[in-house]
Amino acid sequence: MTKALELRSVSKQYGQTRALDQVDLDIGEGEAVAVLGPNGAGKSTMLSIALGLRAADTGTTKVFGSSPVEALKAGHVGVLLQEAGLLEDVRVSELVEAVAGMYAKPLPAVQTMRAAGVEQLAGKRIGQLSGGQRQRVRFALALAGDPKLLVLDEPTVGLDVDSRRSLWQHVRERVEAGSTVVFATHYLTEADDYADRVVLLSEGRIVADGPVEQIKALVGGLEVRFTWKDADPGRLESLPGVRQVHIDGPAVTLRTNDSDATLRALFLDLHEIKDVRTTATDLESAFVSLTGGND
Ligand code: ADP
Repeated sequence: MTKALELRSVSKQYGQTRALDQVDLDIGEGEAVAVLGPNGAGKSTMLSIALGLRAADTGTTKVFGSSPVEALKAGHVGVLLQEAGLLEDVRVSELVEAVAGMYAKPLPAVQTMRAAGVEQLAGKRIGQLSGGQRQRVRFALALAGDPKLLVLDEPTVGLDVDSRRSLWQHVRERVEAGSTVVFATHYLTEADDYADRVVLLSEGRIVADGPVEQIKALVGGLEVRFTWKDADPGRLESLPGVRQVHIDGPAVTLRTNDSDATLRALFLDLHEIKDVRTTATDLESAFVSLTGGND
């Protein structure tokens, strides 16, 4: 399989902050990959290095087998970066056409604007646009060159529900047509709905990497709480589905990824337990606990 992106032992330090620590990552052509992680995990740094916008301190980065800058020059890469500045005085259509003109094989500007949902804004100046409209223009600029690799850093920030849906729908269409998409988000649901693979970053390291279902099993699940005066950790750990056991005096918390099986076994085997309660670990908080993040 051709690799769209290849990072080898990439590290990056800002002063005392180790933003990326020996990151290895291969992304094949046609994959839709979500890069997840709490604020400060290193997502933007990793994407900027992949795009050749920042230099790594050590390690190598290849995009379609070339350096990131060569891949960008060749028009293989489309980018949407957070808070990227836009020229205020030009009209949307002029900007899209200008950016398309920088690529070897751009999409027709009208098609790009339609895909990004900005065709109604074509005649407006950027300075007149709302935050969400600007974000859609950024998306249009990312699409303008009909890139083989689309890199999106938190693409839905500031977008309303309909715009989000249509952005993702377009992203998925591109993936179905063979493009590669890498996007950073801290919404697990976006990863769940639109990525095939999740790369989980925490403190500059990849702490999990796999198909969405696998990551969900890792971070999702259910919490089961009860009291058991003489809790036996060994017995609790051996219950089906149980991934984590926490005992605090008589208070027991189990984290399980097969709640039905865990509860059945609990009620069958452990007659001395009381006050059983279950709470769904929502994916967001489970994810935060997995990455040790604090947002
Ligand atoms: P994320 O995108 O996951 O929020 P970043 O890549 O932006 O993470 O940041 C990773 C770490 O590097 C953070 O601790 C952040 O404060 C730090 N950092 C990022 N960019 C810079 C910079 N230009 N100068 C100094 N520190 C930075």
